[in-house]
Amino acid sequence: MKVRGDWITHPGSQALCAVLEGAGFRALFVGGCVRNDLLGVPVADIDLATDATPEIVSDIAETAGFKVVPTGIEHGTVTVVAEGRPHEVTTFRRDVETDGRRAMVAFSTRIEEDAQRRDFTMNTLYADRTGRVIDPLHGLSDLQARRVRFVGDAETRIREDYLRILRFFRFHAAYGDPEGGLDPEGLAACAAFSAGLETISRERITAELRKLLAARDPGPSVAAMARSGVLARILPGADPRALAPLVHLDQGESARWLRRLAVLGGETGHLRLSKSEARDLAALRTALGSADTPAALGWRLGEPLGTDAILARAAVLEMPLPDDWQRQVRRGAKTSFPVSAADLMPGLQGEALGARLKSLEARWLAADLTLTREELLKGA
Ligand code: ATP
Ligand code: MG
Repeated sequence: MKVRGDWITHPGSQALCAVLEGAGFRALFVGGCVRNDLLGVPVADIDLATDATPEIVSDIAETAGFKVVPTGIEHGTVTVVAEGRPHEVTTFRRDVETDGRRAMVAFSTRIEEDAQRRDFTMNTLYADRTGRVIDPLHGLSDLQARRVRFVGDAETRIREDYLRILRFFRFHAAYGDPEGGLDPEGLAACAAFSAGLETISRERITAELRKLLAARDPGPSVAAMARSGVLARILPGADPRALAPLVHLDQGESARWLRRLAVLGGETGHLRLSKSEARDLAALRTALGSADTPAALGWRLGEPLGTDAILARAAVLEMPLPDDWQRQVRRGAKTSFPVSAADLMPGLQGEALGARLKSLEARWLAADLTLTREELLKGA
């Protein structure tokens, strides 16, 4: 079995593997790149595993003229930029003890141990620089069946790191067999230990949720999270019902994960959203309950967020989309409210001025942005 994508022939990756091997160490591609290549989906970032310690990796890489950034030295990871491409290079590790928030690790020289500390069998595939696949735990058959299965005993693995609960649903959404459903043993363990998610940082939860909701179709995974009690731990009060209709309407356009979050509802106190995400989410939630026309939403929110709002509202209310809604959102986004404060001054000042502007704006929005400045000012 071989991986064949062009990513593996990148001169930076080849050179980095060659210098590590030249010094007598192993240098193997691992995780997402190998998995995605074998599934025929795009490879995003490059992870390497090696039996050299991080200090030795750094020395060898620097001597070869590559830039080294100690991105996760406490977990044995350094990032090596070779010919413009970053590689996360992690020393073989084994799990030793854990507080459930992060697995504690020790270095190892054995690939089997390194594979055993990984989360799912489909993530334990390695490839050398010629593309030959190394499969110490027989993860290939699970990958080919698109089965997300924990390495070892699911309950034990979850208790080492509760974030793995969310990763289970995320990897199923991204790579699982949509017909086959979730692995029953893994699902039962996630349900039994969902309370452990309370100990995971908001940053780590949000990073996983973001990736989960950005899958082409997160619907079945999120529905299973709701049934198993996992969803309520990270988004109390959320309701997954509008997600499937939204995915149908947005046709898997996954880059807009926030509108998927918006239709779930629920309290976001367990998440850490950026300022702009929090603002956009609040705007979307307001739009869900509004009677604004598509043009009005385009005007209020701009085209991308206005589009999110229309789709999210149609999914939640289970209403069809008006025929020319995209054109209308675009029209709204390009239109400016034609009246300014100067038009009403000096006759109106202060609060009265603000109130009149608001009421003119409401009239203008109700008329679907068609009234002109003159029409609005007539009788104002
Ligand atoms: P992608 O980058 O596409 O999200 P990935 O598989 O590369 O997928 P990463 O989060 O980059 O995922 O992690 C790289 C590898 O490290 C995984 O494939 C897995 O083997 C291992 N890993 C990451 N997080 C954990 C964890 N919490 N527990 C156990 N193993 C993990
Ligand atoms: Mg990765």
